Amino acid sequence: MTMRRKLIAGNWKMNGLKADGLALAQGLADKLKGGPAPACDLLVCPPFTLIAPVAAIAAGSALAVGGQDCHAKTSGAHTGDTSPVMLADLGCAYAIVGHSERRTDHAETDAVVKAKGTAAQAAGLIAIVCIGETLAQRDAGQTIEVNRSQLQGSLPDGATPDNTVIAYEPVWAIGTGRVATPAQAQEVHAAIRAELASKLGGEAASRMRILYGGSMKPDNARELLALPDVDGGLIGGASLKVADFWAIAESC
Ligand code: PEP
Repeated sequence: MTMRRKLIAGNWKMNGLKADGLALAQGLADKLKGGPAPACDLLVCPPFTLIAPVAAIAAGSALAVGGQDCHAKTSGAHTGDTSPVMLADLGCAYAIVGHSERRTDHAETDAVVKAKGTAAQAAGLIAIVCIGETLAQRDAGQTIEVNRSQLQGSLPDGATPDNTVIAYEPVWAIGTGRVATPAQAQEVHAAIRAELASKLGGEAASRMRILYGGSMKPDNARELLALPDVDGGLIGGASLKVADFWAIAESC
C-alpha cells in the first residue's frame, strides 16, 4: 500500500488582524519547536495581508505557508489580484484554488480554477484544488457525478502527486458544524481516487493526497483521518485556535 503523508491545512479565510494572526502562527511555531512534531505536514493559509509576517515566523520550521487563492497570470493589469509568483516570492509553498467560497463569491468556474491551479504549479507551488457538492446536489443523488465533473474540469493538465492536492469539501459541511459521516467522506474520496486513476494512472492516483474539508474539529478528526482515502484535512474554523488545530494534527 502506498504511504501518503497526511497534510493538515488551515484556511484562515478573511480572519485575523496582525495581533491575532501573528499570535496564531507563533503559537504553532512554538508547538513545533517545543516537542515532537505531529506525523503530518502542517500548512497555514492566512489572508494575503498576513502572509509575509506569518512566513517570517514559519521560516526554518516545519510549518508551511500558502495562499487562499491566486490569479492565473504572472503579472499585469489585474487590480487587487495576487499572482502565484508573488505568493512564491513571499515564501508560500501552496495555493488553494477553487474553494467553494471563491466559486460562489467570485463566480469561479472549473475552467478558471484549472487555469489558477496550472499557474500555481508553474510558479512552483502545490495547488490545493477544491471540489464538492451542494446539499441540493447531494439530495438529488448527484454527489459522485458532481465531484467527478468538477475534478475533470478543475484538475490542471500537468497535475502530479507532487504538485497537486485535492480537497473534497461538501459545501453543506463548510462552516456549518455539519460534518460528513465517515461513510459519506470515504465514498466520495474513493470515487475521486478512481477518477484520478483513470486520468493520471493508478500509480499517480495512489500517491496523490485527497483532503477532507467541512467542519473538521478535534472531536471528529481522528475518525475521518483514519479512513483509507482521507489524506488530511482542510480546516477553516478550527484552524483559528492553536489548541484545536494542533489537536487535529495530532490525530494523524
Ligand atoms: C474551509 O474553509 O475550507 C472549511 C472546511 O471550513 P470549516 O472547517 O470552518 O468548515
